[in-house]
Amino acid sequence: MHDSFVHKGKRKKLVEYLRNRIGISDENVLSAMNKVPRHLFIESIFEDFAYEDRAFPILAHQTISHPSTVAEQSELLKVKAGEKVLEIGTGCGYQTAVLVAMKALVYTVERQKDLFDFSKNKLRELHLTPKFQSFGDGFAGLPTFAPFDKIIVTCGASTLPTELLKQLNIGGIMVIPLGPTDEQVLFRFTKIGPTEFEKEEFGAYKFVPMLGNTNQ
Ligand code: SAH
Repeated sequence: MHDSFVHKGKRKKLVEYLRNRIGISDENVLSAMNKVPRHLFIESIFEDFAYEDRAFPILAHQTISHPSTVAEQSELLKVKAGEKVLEIGTGCGYQTAVLVAMKALVYTVERQKDLFDFSKNKLRELHLTPKFQSFGDGFAGLPTFAPFDKIIVTCGASTLPTELLKQLNIGGIMVIPLGPTDEQVLFRFTKIGPTEFEKEEFGAYKFVPMLGNTNQ
């Protein structure tokens, strides 16, 4: 598979859909999503549908998020160039690539070895390499690289991972889906003091679950 004019055309249409129908207005998000070839992150049988607003199965029974979800989470993060962003749940690496294209310094954690390996190779191949990729449990964050300006969690947590909130800078933002396995609510936490947070709510979503530290 390569990135053809047909792919580029479909991508442009997806970006217009994100702007006009989903209401994404952060130009940094829209231009990053116009750059990253989503069809190269999924199996070739789904290639023709790669630029529709759909999720697809990836390795290890996980899923690549809907483009609208990636766009919304990225917009809620208010990413600026040069910021340190921690991502929990690399998956196939698509959201990682979008954040790298937004010029963030991305640190990303994945607990499935197959996806850790896949995303590492894919992101290198596309020259969208994050600062650091870790194979491990995202509940612990990455204390050696903390603090972070932004944290994005791309799996649904049944309990709030408090360790991650500790690893945020004051003024930093964490975007995270919280709730049981079948449905979560997307939240944005803004750190306004060492232990004080502002909490906003952004509607219902369905993410794969955030699991503990063993491969299940
Ligand atoms: N960011 C991806 C979404 C992948 S799905 C995208 O661009 O579409 C969410 C990912 O979170 C899965 O790959 C899953 O294995 C991973 N995950 C679940 N629990 C985790 C944990 N505790 N630590 C790190 N990754 C986790």
